[in-house]
Amino acid sequence: MYRRISDSEFAAFLSNAYSGAPAVRRLLDEAGLRPNELGPPEAVLPRLRVTRKEELSAQQQEDPPFGGWVSGGMSSLRRVFVSPGPIYNVEGTRLDDWGAAEAFRAAGFGPGDLVLNTFTYHLSPAAFMIEAGVLSLGGTVVPAGTMSRSEQARLLQQLPVTGFAGLPSYLRALLATILEESRAGGVSKPRLALRRAWFTAERLDDDFRQELAEEWDVKAFQGYGTAELGIVAYECEAQQGMHLVEQVIVEVLDPATREPVPEGEVGELVVTALRPAYPLVRLATGDLSRVIPEPCRCGRSSPRIAGVLGRVGAGVKVRGMFIYPHQIEQLARAVPGIARIAARVGQEGHRDCLWLDVETQAGEAHDPAAAAALKEAVTAAAQDRLRVRPDRVELYPPGQLGDRPVLADSRQK
Ligand SMILES: [Zn+2]
Repeated sequence: MYRRISDSEFAAFLSNAYSGAPAVRRLLDEAGLRPNELGPPEAVLPRLRVTRKEELSAQQQEDPPFGGWVSGGMSSLRRVFVSPGPIYNVEGTRLDDWGAAEAFRAAGFGPGDLVLNTFTYHLSPAAFMIEAGVLSLGGTVVPAGTMSRSEQARLLQQLPVTGFAGLPSYLRALLATILEESRAGGVSKPRLALRRAWFTAERLDDDFRQELAEEWDVKAFQGYGTAELGIVAYECEAQQGMHLVEQVIVEVLDPATREPVPEGEVGELVVTALRPAYPLVRLATGDLSRVIPEPCRCGRSSPRIAGVLGRVGAGVKVRGMFIYPHQIEQLARAVPGIARIAARVGQEGHRDCLWLDVETQAGEAHDPAAAAALKEAVTAAAQDRLRVRPDRVELYPPGQLGDRPVLADSRQK
């Protein structure tokens, strides 16, 4: 279990949630816990039932509108959002209810920044999370939302916009538009005031991060959050994994057994968000990640996670056995000398096949004997952990697998 808050802050949070939010009261009652005898989160949380994201929708239908998860009634809320499901999520009345300020501070945002916020302002919370983070640091926001790409490209050039918030693919498209237009107009590449970009909801690939730094002098940062929980983790200047925000407690659990996985191994992120108005306790996100146990070179002592490595339930059936992306990640970590594995499931005749493309670490497997030994080790580990013997294991030098998915199924459906 990974947290920054103290035992007493946790106890105060949970006893307030117990008295204000019927859903939290139900969880504690089920576990036979009394709010006046609460211990540290390590003693309390494992006794409480995990709630899957999909269950929220059903609970809200049974006990409208919020399934009992809102503490303090409507007067404790600033906004109500609608996610597909439908799930209603809420924002409390604190200025930075979503925990975004520390994420933006770590990315270097502050007073004097003008941030182009390209998340939609229509029913979804991401735009409001970002706004709250920027505003509480003294920055200024252009609430651009979903206006057209050419209009946003114009804003980037006409206003002294120093920060971008949105999806990486969207900024890539905006910058391409700017380049095209300048080329068509016969002018050289414009100089932008843009210096920082903050991304969430879509993975930032290393190539684009590098392109932003080298071509545009823009430093890119990523955050992880959900519409229910707010911001959960964010990149610091070291950009090696994401630090947890102060208001969350994160568990990394085996999706099947709900037991904690060993530190550093991949499991499902189960998050308790200490938001007074919306106290979600042990929400299973469906996102797979792992904790990075080594200290960060930025000097922050807060725990780090590796970002989203896959989704729970994205299992693929091979010869009767389900294989999950996190198992492939674990496999790669279990065999020394391996950087990553991209698994493919296909078919030869009517037989399911499992092919493992293995990216080695630098200096590994140069001579044939070492390569054969490495393949054998991967095969044995796969058989042991997946209970499926791979049909082929291929080795690749570092960097060769690019953005290949951890697990892909190429069979005809
Ligand atoms: Zn750091």
